[in-house]
Amino acid sequence: MNPCSCGHLGNPLRACRCTPDQVSRYQGRLSGPFLDRLDLLIEVPVIPPRELQDLAPGEPSVVVAERVAAARARAVARQGCANAQLQAQDLTTHAALEPAAKALLERSAEKLGWSARSFHRVLRVARTVADLADSERIATAHVAEAIQLRRGLPGAPSA
Ligand SMILES: [Zn+2]
Repeated sequence: MNPCSCGHLGNPLRACRCTPDQVSRYQGRLSGPFLDRLDLLIEVPVIPPRELQDLAPGEPSVVVAERVAAARARAVARQGCANAQLQAQDLTTHAALEPAAKALLERSAEKLGWSARSFHRVLRVARTVADLADSERIATAHVAEAIQLRRGLPGAPSA
């Protein structure tokens, strides 16, 4: 979705014409309980055309697809299903955290006011980040990345 009704909030090239009130009304169209059901909330910033041309070529999609397939196969071999399908009660067994990673996740959940559902979603994403890194253990870096993938819209309270 756009960050606001004019679409330019956070755009370095064009000024947003919305008042803070309009921004919060626009973003409020997605309710907390709805946002609670999303795994990834990612801000995609505008890239000026000049910089677009200077970007280094990214990783080919076929390489990324292979990594994703390997991560999914790892999850299925471990627990018989994809990470997204893990039940909350199975997370303790299959998504065990290193102590520092556990502390980071608990601190963030408290600070950002996550529901139990959000907490479990971030944990599943951290499990996937670890699988993508070919790591059986979920370390602090995996949890930190999962938290970043839930940052949400600019100017919105964290979901
Ligand atoms: Zn705007």
